Amino acid sequence: MRSVHPPPINDVQVLDRIIAGRRRGAKPRMQAVRDIVVNAYQEYRKWPLLPVGLVPSAARDFCRAYENGASAMVALRNELFAHYASESKDDLCPYCLVELVSDLDHWLPMRDFPEYSVLSKNLVPSCHRCNEEKGRRWKTVAGERVYPHPYFDDAGSQRVLVCSLTIGGDGVSEVGYSVVPGNTPYARVFANLFQDLKLRGRFCRRGAEEWSRFCGFASAGLTGAEPDSVQRVRGWLAQSAAVDVPRFGDNHWASALWRAASQATDADLLRAVTAAGQRRPVPVETSVDAGPGE
Ligand SMILES: [Zn+2]
Repeated sequence: MRSVHPPPINDVQVLDRIIAGRRRGAKPRMQAVRDIVVNAYQEYRKWPLLPVGLVPSAARDFCRAYENGASAMVALRNELFAHYASESKDDLCPYCLVELVSDLDHWLPMRDFPEYSVLSKNLVPSCHRCNEEKGRRWKTVAGERVYPHPYFDDAGSQRVLVCSLTIGGDGVSEVGYSVVPGNTPYARVFANLFQDLKLRGRFCRRGAEEWSRFCGFASAGLTGAEPDSVQRVRGWLAQSAAVDVPRFGDNHWASALWRAASQATDADLLRAVTAAGQRRPVPVETSVDAGPGE
């Protein structure tokens, strides 16, 4: 997961603009609960959080205010995507870092917390798939948060994602991912994210594609059985890590892949690269700007 700064948006001002733009029925109903909602905004980061319990008509109004395309809502949406684009530089979804953002995810589901339907801190640009998979889950049976929050949670120096790279005798590789069982709050919510958003399968696919691409490049960069072949492959691995780790952090499928590959034995690395040279390269979309040998 990627952490970004919360959007620097004056939420009360936005709320007032949105209420002012609503039609006659909704406007007074929203106005009547406006102070309750503003109060709830102050509580947003506290946990455990309980819905304020808006009356159903006001709850509906807040959901509709988000869903309809009124100009204040369009402006908020544009501002959130622009903020995320400038923070991320690549528009990859903060939950999976696999697909591009296309949706706004209500980190606390809008149906359960309509008071946060237009709160910028509760609106996270995400890919459609993560938004769908995440659905309405937000609290575990034990009362813990289900997901990390891209605006407020940071892995810090914790490495919670592990890649396993198995290179067979024929040089064919298998890429797998798992989460380190951890007792820190971040490790627990990351494990939930990993499981709920089905990240294992998505990471395995991307990791395998990336590894195949790397081995293909490395194989093309080696002219034969040079004495320093392994050192050169290790150099390209280090280059790939130097691009991806600062950009995505340690808990990204590519960062974890480079870590795993750097721990492979010399013989395994050479076998994987040699085997790639004997296969037709698979064209894949790459997440690495500068491949080895470029
Ligand atoms: Zn995603």
